Amino acid sequence: MRATLQDITLAYDQHTTVLKNFTCTIPTGELVALLGPSGSGKSTILNLLAGLLTPDAGQILFDQTNVTHQDSRQRNIGMVFQDYALYPHLSVRDNIAFPLKMAHVKKAARQQRVTELAKLVQITDQLAKFPRELSGGQQQRVALARALAKHPQLLLLDEPLSSLDTTLREELRTVIHDVQRATGVTTLFVTHNQEDALQIADHIMLLANGRLQQVGTGHDLYVHPQNLTVAQFIGRPQLNLWPVATLPAGLRASLPATLLAQATTLGIRSEAIHLATTPAAAHFTATITQQRQLGRDTLTSLQAATSLISTTIPRTDQTTLPLTVDRHGCQLFSATGDCLWTGADQ
Ligand code: ADP
Repeated sequence: MRATLQDITLAYDQHTTVLKNFTCTIPTGELVALLGPSGSGKSTILNLLAGLLTPDAGQILFDQTNVTHQDSRQRNIGMVFQDYALYPHLSVRDNIAFPLKMAHVKKAARQQRVTELAKLVQITDQLAKFPRELSGGQQQRVALARALAKHPQLLLLDEPLSSLDTTLREELRTVIHDVQRATGVTTLFVTHNQEDALQIADHIMLLANGRLQQVGTGHDLYVHPQNLTVAQFIGRPQLNLWPVATLPAGLRASLPATLLAQATTLGIRSEAIHLATTPAAAHFTATITQQRQLGRDTLTSLQAATSLISTTIPRTDQTTLPLTVDRHGCQLFSATGDCLWTGADQ
């Protein structure tokens, strides 16, 4: 099932129009991440799809069917929330079976479906337990199984990993990805965490200021950002920005002159900065301000002219470094933030 928001306008009150003529599509069978900072409108979009909000204008389509004025129950949607929202007084088995019981599914069929789902999310040995006896990760598996019980046509995941610690978070990412693949259910995964989106989504819809800034694979967004908002949101450390007016001559000479003349900002990915083999080969020199070991990687902060730059160059005792920039990791932006050129195309 393909879910579409078509020309949606929604305001909570007269002063705040959160979405204006907003359009997006979640293709059939895909896992799409809706990624954006807090307050960008992610929950609003999720609630529109869930039937918990009605737009002021525009249509919500499930395939060709207009569901704009259908309520939540009519839409056959599965939902998973950040806080699991399990029924504390029910066993895991009864939590998963609950939507089926409400739909008057016979006991034998309920039990068979619970067995299938428990296997899918790997909690077969936990069925007799109560939610309070489970870890956060296990509780979220139960919530996922319950959301899938009625074979929903759309699965909505609202920040499902945000309450989990790093290890469980990574484990659950894999579970969500594998379960989505096994069921083929069209899925929207709402998150403010780019790692979640980059690791499990087929496509990412990047939302900022109530506007879809770009839709693409994680790789597309990283190497071909449409604008500065996308380029700065995706990637850690954040994209280094250098005003074109203050670029050193050596660096300027390595970039395309005509586009440089139209650009106001150069973006450089931290991993595109390397130690020059000889001082003569350097595009610029910089002074180390800080070196931090982050597990396997070193994060080296530099002061170059008036710009502060993050790099991944290895630990060194030198304080002033000759550096080169790999243009594959460079992007040029106009004064309005449009991406004019990316070195990845070269
Ligand atoms: P996100 O999920 O990306 O954090 P939301 O969809 O929750 O964003 O919110 C988008 C904007 O709408 C924010 O500016 C928020 O303050 C506003 N907003 C959300 N819910 C309400 C509400 N019930 N009443 C008024 N404003 C709201």
